[in-house]
Amino acid sequence: MRKADRIYVAGHRGMVGSAVCRALERGGYGNVVTRTHAELDLLDPAAVRAFYAAERPDVAVIAAARVGGIGANSAANARFLYENELIALNTVWGAAEAGVRRLLFLGSTCIYPRLAPQPIPESALLTSALEKTNEGYALAKISGLKLCEFLRRERGLCYHSLMPTNLYGPGDSYDLVGGHVLPTMIRKFEEARQRGDASVPLWGTGTPLREFLHVDDLAEACLFVLNLADPPDLLNVGSGEEVSIRDLAEKVRAATGCLATIDWDATKPDGTPRKLCDTSRIRALGWAPRISLDEGLRRTVACYRAECAAETVRLGR
Ligand code: GDP
Repeated sequence: MRKADRIYVAGHRGMVGSAVCRALERGGYGNVVTRTHAELDLLDPAAVRAFYAAERPDVAVIAAARVGGIGANSAANARFLYENELIALNTVWGAAEAGVRRLLFLGSTCIYPRLAPQPIPESALLTSALEKTNEGYALAKISGLKLCEFLRRERGLCYHSLMPTNLYGPGDSYDLVGGHVLPTMIRKFEEARQRGDASVPLWGTGTPLREFLHVDDLAEACLFVLNLADPPDLLNVGSGEEVSIRDLAEKVRAATGCLATIDWDATKPDGTPRKLCDTSRIRALGWAPRISLDEGLRRTVACYRAECAAETVRLGR
């Protein structure tokens, strides 16, 4: 990727897209193209084609998606499949038709089978059944990464994909019902502390294992792979730091200074039992994360408080 390249970041207002834009700016890439949802509907193939024809980007980073935690996904697999499938097909196919030279497609490690070997290698893709709670999202992301792979084989386009583990950081959604576990915990503990609640309700049994990556580390990984001459079709990206939901809750409670006890609601889903990705491929190429979970949590609690004070925080429900 060249400094003067015209780079389209799809989803620049989301947590991932905004982190990619910050990293591009830090890296001296000054020719970034963005469109808000109101300006460009990525579900509309004709609108996406017209956008690419008018803007002619050299590079595209596809960070646009409907995303959510286990609550949002399991309640709306149909919508997660439909919208993410259209976003993936329109942005990737549209780029190829317009001659975009290079494209990075972002997904998530939930594309891998529910009972994949751990840590999950890229080769586990499509080897057995998916986790039901986010099957719609996973199928759409698998379509997107496969489309990139086919276009690379058939047309020689350098289109490739990055699958990050669970992400967190500035600009996250703090929706109590539809959000991901880490930001939701921050909000729950912070509000309990402010109200002086005796207990905080959390979902499931606390036994599932998850890995968390700060979104600024992911953004650096995006720039890193975009600067590889011949990257693999598919690369995992994660911190390698695994934590149980129970231990995560203790860390978040400590980071917020909340004294409430935890009330586990086992009627809520646990989701996939373990989700640690094998990052040996990207590490062998020279990338490594820089932000530990403890440091990232400290920064993110501070960021949440600042976003609340500025009234820019995405609270949802
Ligand atoms: P996942 O990693 O794709 O399953 O999605 P999430 O980021 O929503 O994490 C879900 C895991 O966190 C499950 O094991 C949930 O049972 C657990 N969890 C505990 N409390 C909460 C909560 O308040 N919200 C969410 N989303 N998950 C929670």
